[in-house]
Amino acid sequence: MNYRHAFHAGNFADIVKHAALLDLLARLQAAPEPLAVFDTHGGRGLYDLSGDEAQRSGEARAGIERLMTSGDLPPALQPLQAAVSKLNAGGETTLYPGSPLLVAGALRKGDTYLGCELRPQEHSALSETLAGWPAAKTACADGYVEVQKRLPKEGAVLVLIDPPFEKSDDYERCAAAVAAMTRKNPTAVVMVWLPVKDLETFDAFLRETEDAYDGRLLVGEARMRPLTDPMKMNGCALVVANAPAGFEAPLGEICRWVVETLGENGKAEVWTAG
Ligand code: SAM
Repeated sequence: MNYRHAFHAGNFADIVKHAALLDLLARLQAAPEPLAVFDTHGGRGLYDLSGDEAQRSGEARAGIERLMTSGDLPPALQPLQAAVSKLNAGGETTLYPGSPLLVAGALRKGDTYLGCELRPQEHSALSETLAGWPAAKTACADGYVEVQKRLPKEGAVLVLIDPPFEKSDDYERCAAAVAAMTRKNPTAVVMVWLPVKDLETFDAFLRETEDAYDGRLLVGEARMRPLTDPMKMNGCALVVANAPAGFEAPLGEICRWVVETLGENGKAEVWTAG
């Protein structure tokens, strides 16, 4: 396992994923019942954009740093801008929150969070990041297995599945996880993040998930450039099972802003599959 999210923190794909995550959280928190949030692949929870990895990749410079200086953001991106601004005390953007910290900061009394992380070093950084948030717990474990085990059979649940996709079975495991989690808790909202490199791989994942999962999937795609080089991450997509009512519009707004502002001849699309 070589993947280090520190190289990619705050890039266009994090913006899509994290803005959508904050919108989903707010939508699910409109109901009074407590919400249990699960993150199968947590990462370290907090990233230093002035550090060597972020500086070398330049991905945050081309992503969150542009968003932070953007004056007229569409509403669906404003909560992410506010969360990043708060973390940096309104000053220069040198810190970027991962999904665990974004969720921890949004929990209401009675809500819970579990972030899984397989790499011991990343997991210990994650525990440290979340030390001040007692309702946010961590597990140094395989997130696909751990979340399926701990998922309650009923109640309001949001799952983020955000693997590095450095192993070829991640696609298969994501499709199986969507099916198994929604079988265990039929109302669980499950969001998978995927890279878009070439259409064949993405379409194959959608077909496999549609075969395994007996419901509709909301798909948001931010294609940053034409798919001419399948070795590059040309875009990203979010695939959501049990998407709450009204989520389609903000998802479209997020994908469109990211493609139009940060992409090169790309395309944003939202559709329903299954
Ligand atoms: N969700 C995080 C966020 O948005 O801030 C980023 C997660 S990053 C894309 C993927 C993380 O998954 C890496 O830190 C990697 O070490 C970890 N990982 C890889 N395989 C895993 C597995 N089977 N279970 C849990 N974590 C895993």
